[in-house]
Amino acid sequence: MPDAPREPSPARRAKTGEKSGPQRALEKLGLRRDIDLALHLPLRYEDETRVTAIADAPDGEPVQVEGIVRECRIELRSRRQLLVRIEDDSDDLLLRFLNFYPSHQKTLAVGARVRVRGEAHAGFFGREMVHPQFKAVDENSPLATALTPVYPTSAQLPQAYLRKVVAAALRRAALDEVLPPGTVPTGLPSLREALHSLHHPPAGAAMSVLEDRSRPAWQRLKFEELLAQQLSQLASQRERARLRAPLLRAETGGLHERLLAALPFQLTAAQRRVAEEIASDLMRPPEAGATGDGAVPMHRLLQGDVGSGKTVVAALAATVAIDSGWQCALMAPTELLAEQHFRKLVQWLEPLGVGIAWLTGSRKGRGRRQMVERVASGEAGLVVGTQAVIQEDVHFAKLGLAIIDEQHRFGVAQRLELRRKLAPTDTTSLRPALEPHLLMMSATPIPRTLAMTYFADLDVSTIDELPPGRTPIVTKVFADNRRDQVIARIADEVGRGRQVYWVCPLIDESETLDLQNATEAHAQLSAALPGHAVGLLHGRMRPADKATVMAQFISGELKLLVATTVIEVGVDVPNASLMVIEHAERFGLSQLHQLRGRVGRGAVASVCVLLYQGPLSATGKDRLRAMAETNDGFEIARRDLEIRGPGEFMGARQSGDALLRFADLDDDAPLLQQARSLAPELLSKHAVAARAHVARWLDTRADFLKA
Ligand code: ADP
Ligand code: MG
Repeated sequence: MPDAPREPSPARRAKTGEKSGPQRALEKLGLRRDIDLALHLPLRYEDETRVTAIADAPDGEPVQVEGIVRECRIELRSRRQLLVRIEDDSDDLLLRFLNFYPSHQKTLAVGARVRVRGEAHAGFFGREMVHPQFKAVDENSPLATALTPVYPTSAQLPQAYLRKVVAAALRRAALDEVLPPGTVPTGLPSLREALHSLHHPPAGAAMSVLEDRSRPAWQRLKFEELLAQQLSQLASQRERARLRAPLLRAETGGLHERLLAALPFQLTAAQRRVAEEIASDLMRPPEAGATGDGAVPMHRLLQGDVGSGKTVVAALAATVAIDSGWQCALMAPTELLAEQHFRKLVQWLEPLGVGIAWLTGSRKGRGRRQMVERVASGEAGLVVGTQAVIQEDVHFAKLGLAIIDEQHRFGVAQRLELRRKLAPTDTTSLRPALEPHLLMMSATPIPRTLAMTYFADLDVSTIDELPPGRTPIVTKVFADNRRDQVIARIADEVGRGRQVYWVCPLIDESETLDLQNATEAHAQLSAALPGHAVGLLHGRMRPADKATVMAQFISGELKLLVATTVIEVGVDVPNASLMVIEHAERFGLSQLHQLRGRVGRGAVASVCVLLYQGPLSATGKDRLRAMAETNDGFEIARRDLEIRGPGEFMGARQSGDALLRFADLDDDAPLLQQARSLAPELLSKHAVAARAHVARWLDTRADFLKA
């Protein structure tokens, strides 16, 4: 037999700097530094501190017994299995292995003494354990003195190996107190004590007590984590306050006034208020005594429900920048959305003489070069597009304001990249370069608890009112077996000259998910609506084709648009009065809300039908019911957060790091308050300690918190 390929020897690896499989697996789990390993907490514990007599082993509960193997045989009846009978002074017990290796038989040979852990059940041939853990011992083998931790791990990382490296890291890690005396809430143990007791609880500790996250050891960890997060946010806020951005001010008789006068509608009170908040940010001078001219860079989130009219507020901010002789960039997460903005802004601003450039990934070649030149020369006062706006070859003559629409739709890493790109690059001039003001917009409001934690360094403006004349959307929840009825309703609507969206969750037939795909729906609906053009829009199409279909729907040529979630954000067709969402149970609540916001944009009463494929779980039903019960994006965001947790809410999953691992925003509000009030003083008076604390806890994650 040829030799199987071998793993390189450890010595060779050390020489070449190669990493072993388990080491790579550790890195994959983000366990690089000693402190990372020390903070990798057990999922649960196993009790190897005592041995129970077989006769006393409770049914169905984990227990450790010890005995001598009396019988070890392979049975072939029904299914090949290894049956082992052990015996102690009190009783005997059958061990049953459906998967086993020769090593099993070796360790479990007749006469061997073994310690076995598992759950005993009454079996056909007396009491038995299926697939217990076992190890050979001798009469004097000592018992564990602490509970044995069981860590979250991956297939390439054996539990025993992980236990060893965690224990070693815990001994090595620099866990000395870095926080000055008097700052940690009273009654909490030191970090070292807390971690020690969580990794290796003493024998006899009750499991339920260990799982109780309100106990002091847990409180200490949570407090530390929340404090690190508050410190890092506060630090970046103070850092920003030292930076300078251009001072932007609307000119009397300038673009700003002229745009207001030219708009076909009156701003709502809420729009006026947030526009003023933004305008005053753009000309906020540094605090007295600070160095440098210019303004403090704006760092503001504009949130407002779907349809609340954020675009015009963005346009007004852009005119302030252009009035002051600076450029404005407006970025959207998708090409479709960027194009919608572009149309609207061209319509509003071009008549006023503003040069507008348009940059997206699909625009290449000469067209792109021309646009890039107009950006570089300053001829374009406003630049609209996707991330293509900030690609390497794009240089702004004078970028004063960057606006990011639907900012939560950008991944965390993308957001970081964006902010890096926007940082000033002027290294030639002696004066510090000015950085642009930043305005982020989102239709997914940040719930208050999140705003206090993850977005503590962000100023928030909220549009809490919809423009007048909107008729609220009525949402109905139907099982998929009423599909025909829904299609009949579509025919009615189209017959009355209205337009309809049909939204599907996926484009490809998937083997695992039995999803009706968009192409199939398109065929079915085309057949059901003879004489009407039905469009199809999905993520796999070329951008130019998408744009064509969208344009046809906007012009009314297409009455019905079957689409995957590419239409999720920003698409604005006031004549669309009905939206059907298929497999609504597969969508997140905020996503459904965004989708639904595509209808109800005009004065006609609009309906959103959520079709679901049953059977639904109780939460599944609650979720869809919530959609029918409320049109309020804030309420929906709150419920979404409740269901999905903050990590997903923020799209942080892509970074692979849960942002808060220990603290829970709902349960730990008091600790959060304590961390919040401690952070400013700690940062001002104990900067070294504050930095050490943040480094210990966040390492590279600190960056993610800034995104
Ligand atoms: P969103 O906040 O979802 O981005 P948009 O900016 O796309 O909303 O605005 C939705 C629609 O409402 C657009 O057609 C826009 O022109 C219109 N609109 C915005 N503000 C007002 C207003 N004050 N009065 C009437 N219509 C408005
Ligand atoms: Mg919008």
